Amino acid sequence: MDEVTGAQLIAESLKAQKVDYMFGIVGVPVIEVAMAAQAAGIKYVGMRNEQAACYAASTIGYLTGRPGACLVVSGPGLIHALGGMANANMNCWPVVVIGGSSDQNQETAGAFQEFPQAVRTSMYGRPGACYVDIAGDMVNAKVDRSNVRVVSCCPTPPVSLADHSAIREAISVLKAAKRPLVIIGKGAAYSRAETALKEFVEMSWSAISAHPYGAKGSYLMITINVWLLPARGQPPFDFENVCESKSVKALLQADVVLLLGARLNWILHFGLPPRFDPDVKIIQVDLCAEEMGNNVRPAVALLGDINAIVIQLLECVRKDGWKYPSDTEWWSTLKDKIAANAKISKVGLGRSLFSQHVPMNYYTVFHHVSQLLPHDCIIVSEGANTMDIGRTMLNNYLPRHRLDAGTFGTMGVGLGFAIAAATLERSENKGQRIVCVEGDSAFGFSGMEVETMCRYNLPVVIIVVNNNGIYSGVDPETWKEMAKMGDLTSIAPPVTLLPEARYDEVMTAFGGRGFLVRTVEELRSALQLSLSDWERPSLLNVLIDPSSDRKQQEFPWLTRSNL
Ligand code: ADP
Ligand code: MG
Repeated sequence: MDEVTGAQLIAESLKAQKVDYMFGIVGVPVIEVAMAAQAAGIKYVGMRNEQAACYAASTIGYLTGRPGACLVVSGPGLIHALGGMANANMNCWPVVVIGGSSDQNQETAGAFQEFPQAVRTSMYGRPGACYVDIAGDMVNAKVDRSNVRVVSCCPTPPVSLADHSAIREAISVLKAAKRPLVIIGKGAAYSRAETALKEFVEMSWSAISAHPYGAKGSYLMITINVWLLPARGQPPFDFENVCESKSVKALLQADVVLLLGARLNWILHFGLPPRFDPDVKIIQVDLCAEEMGNNVRPAVALLGDINAIVIQLLECVRKDGWKYPSDTEWWSTLKDKIAANAKISKVGLGRSLFSQHVPMNYYTVFHHVSQLLPHDCIIVSEGANTMDIGRTMLNNYLPRHRLDAGTFGTMGVGLGFAIAAATLERSENKGQRIVCVEGDSAFGFSGMEVETMCRYNLPVVIIVVNNNGIYSGVDPETWKEMAKMGDLTSIAPPVTLLPEARYDEVMTAFGGRGFLVRTVEELRSALQLSLSDWERPSLLNVLIDPSSDRKQQEFPWLTRSNL
């Protein structure tokens, strides 16, 4: 009899479903599952908290289109993973969570058929999290292989097209538009629509080809999803210059919005006034029917896969050779605005960008970091000011190259995201850097994952932009004064964290590179050194002015609502 254990069957089923990565924390009864996974050829990354493990597994789902697995024990392990599952669901990223529970005295091999189902459910329709519960005694139970029914790998999700008449309607709305705008969300990134979309935009709107993603490049939290298309004949798009006010204007004045895989939620100001024209016509493209009409009733709803739908639109305009005129007032308004912004940011920010003042502020730090980042690096970003300002100054030029707090605004995701991206990078050998830009508070949520990075020699570069607190903090002297004045639990502002905490030493404790950075010079040399090291992770603990803040925003009420 060819015997096979439950653990082996689980591992082999996952492998057969092309689930190639597993992140988890083992304990009874799932240790054997992790071992079997490795034996089956699945890469297993042992993490330090299930939450970060689940963030990592879902990142694999977003980056590759097939879910990663997250392996946890029951009870507390699963409870920890819930944060990651909620985040994955909100982001529409596929992940399969496997939890070992207590023994039962029933199950046969048939129950393992749950796996192919879970993988399929996580990927098909709107992607998201799936949970499979395994009875403890199933893990080591043995069955005869000849009794096992093998389910073949579930194919990538079937692609659906939008209704033809709706496509024609969308084209006529687009043709009538005076101030059109394309908003590109992470659904478009997930569906890998970049090639078709670039062609569609260039073909019909060559005049605004640099800007369809403008709205997503605003100071809002949406650059995760965006890729930048260099305009024809123009140098690669300068992100910083087009942000904020241009986007405000673009959103406010657009009369037609082609919405590709982005929800009209808080990130897009619900698609409502004061940020949007109350009469704006939305052409909503999404594969989730339930999403249609949330907050704004669309002029046209195109239900289906974004890539396929963009190809449908492209075919239509190709046929009749339609092109948006290149000499419109809308286009020149946008161009003027971009030029004006460029000037303001160069002149207005100039002082802080190039200042040698110590302590540094956010703008100085991001200016120098942006100059040194490789063009194709994956930027992981979280924190309040750190992410908000970073989003406007640290450009990603390629699709799926920014991972941040996302739809749920989750803090603590960064290290898990970075570990997943680095694990993937290693097995695909792309020679690509993973740079994780963290607020000091955000770093704290999953800080022990630096041990994971050191253990697997993942050369992630972590930049902790340290302002001694959540939103803001105090300097060490003030902190000492406060401590003298009385019990800190009664008087310390709740936003404060330990001033000048040595996060860099957390990294050196495990053998990675740690840098304490106070000046521009130290920042540049530490970052260059870190980027040249492919063996070990690095952490730059960048001490900035604890009262450093962002520029005043026109609509501050939403930018902080979730942070
Ligand atoms: P963003 O955060 O960039 O604004 P959201 O996460 O709000 O984007 O929206 C992503 C949307 O994309 C979701 O509504 C989801 O249903 C949709 N989506 C995901 N994959 C696809 C796909 N392949 N085709 C069409 N829509 C998709
Ligand atoms: Mg902070």
